[in-house]
Amino acid sequence: MASGGRPRPAPFPSGMKLGDHYRVEGLVRLAEGRMFYLLNDDRPDQAFRTCFDCGYQENPGEAKACLQCGGAMVDRKFLMSVRWDPTFYAPYLELHRRGLKHPGVRWPTDVFLHDELLCAVVPYQSESLLLDECAPLTDDELLRFAQWITGTSAFLMHQGVRLEALGASNFLLTSENELRFYDLAVASIQDEPVDSGEQGEMVQQIVMLLRRFVAVDCVPFWDFIEQAESGAFPDVPSFGEALQALFSQLSADRKPVPAAALTDVGLCRDLNEDNWNWAELAPNIHLFVVADGMGGHASGEVASELASRTICRVAKDRIVSSPELTVEVLENILDEAFQAANNTVKEIAERRGNDMGTTLVACLLIEGRLALLANVGDSRGYLLRDKVLHQVTRDHSLVARMVEQNRITPEEARNHPHSNILLRTVGTERNVEIDIFSVEVEKGDRVLLCSDGLWGEVDDEDIEAILNHYQDQRVISRELIRAAHHGGGKDNITLILVDNDPSVYTKG
Ligand code: CA
Repeated sequence: MASGGRPRPAPFPSGMKLGDHYRVEGLVRLAEGRMFYLLNDDRPDQAFRTCFDCGYQENPGEAKACLQCGGAMVDRKFLMSVRWDPTFYAPYLELHRRGLKHPGVRWPTDVFLHDELLCAVVPYQSESLLLDECAPLTDDELLRFAQWITGTSAFLMHQGVRLEALGASNFLLTSENELRFYDLAVASIQDEPVDSGEQGEMVQQIVMLLRRFVAVDCVPFWDFIEQAESGAFPDVPSFGEALQALFSQLSADRKPVPAAALTDVGLCRDLNEDNWNWAELAPNIHLFVVADGMGGHASGEVASELASRTICRVAKDRIVSSPELTVEVLENILDEAFQAANNTVKEIAERRGNDMGTTLVACLLIEGRLALLANVGDSRGYLLRDKVLHQVTRDHSLVARMVEQNRITPEEARNHPHSNILLRTVGTERNVEIDIFSVEVEKGDRVLLCSDGLWGEVDDEDIEAILNHYQDQRVISRELIRAAHHGGGKDNITLILVDNDPSVYTKG
């Protein structure tokens, strides 16, 4: 995220006239550094209409067909992204001026500045934003997307385009489930191709994006990600070749662990400091983590990312080297992994001289029979059993303690002025005390891990209702985010949903 330090501007109101052709239908999505709008070209106030098939601009307002190409002049819908970091403006306008074409990119038909905001418009064809897609993608989708991204990146670099960043907000999914680059964050453009020596950076950006969508138990893909992160592929072509080799390693009939994850910046914050991660620690043992970072830009999101990755890495290392995995051993491993995450965050915080920290909630799921939930801070772990939602973890917050002491009610806690004061966080003290809750899970149990951006905006009974109303985890995840928005969306929202299906663990 680089919004140039400018706060997110106030949204354009619905009905507002924009540029020479457009009327704002509404704001559809907020993202870090971006806002997305739907527009139409219903502009009776304009004497002329542009044909968005051929670009002819002199069609009379009442024309039914374009005077130049004969195409029907129906009302069109458009998707527009708005950015407010001026450092992106000049290279993006230059990219638009060059008029490059590649099927991997949805090139804007119109780019303009409005009130010093960069507006980029594409005709809307029922695409969705990759940002709204739950993790994971299917193995097949992910591999297909990875190849598409890699091929398109190679084209862009050949054209001298350097990307500043690559995230889910840079992609659209077409109605045919094809991925398209969109609204590129261009760092610079040169006349010569980007030097192959610089391509390692691009590979890392692609890997960062891909890892967000790998299924927890897709081991060959995780091995590939790990290789790529360790620098095994110095340029995009070598990365592409290795990707190709993955096709033969992915098994088409794998029955995946049913888990879904989604994170959202919310409606009020500019920056998403939440994070999540998951990992297969051993066959049939999986770790799921949600972290809610604090400390602001270049701190909170760093702390949550570091902690959620460290805990998975350390737990995996420990499990691999443990000869016997009793519950006690697993609890110790979880504790050690939390301590490692704590120390890593604390070390970086000290080095940088800031006070970043994070909450952590983790669920270690063992063969679909036992779940160990552990937490620090106020990110929560819930269990849905027989349609009833149970909060498993206990918040380490001032208001939670006051509720336990019967000084305030849970309702009062929700709106308490000190509701954000945490008694324990990861990264602030030398040793961190964690709580571990052991649950013998049954078939059909659902575990929900979430940051306070969800439970702070949505009552437990509403979370329960949504979990019971839908079966599809991806639908549930989106509905939960939607409910949090409805509640105000004051904070970042992150959740992982795991359905316990013991039959996926019988494969050996
Ligand atoms: Ca939060």
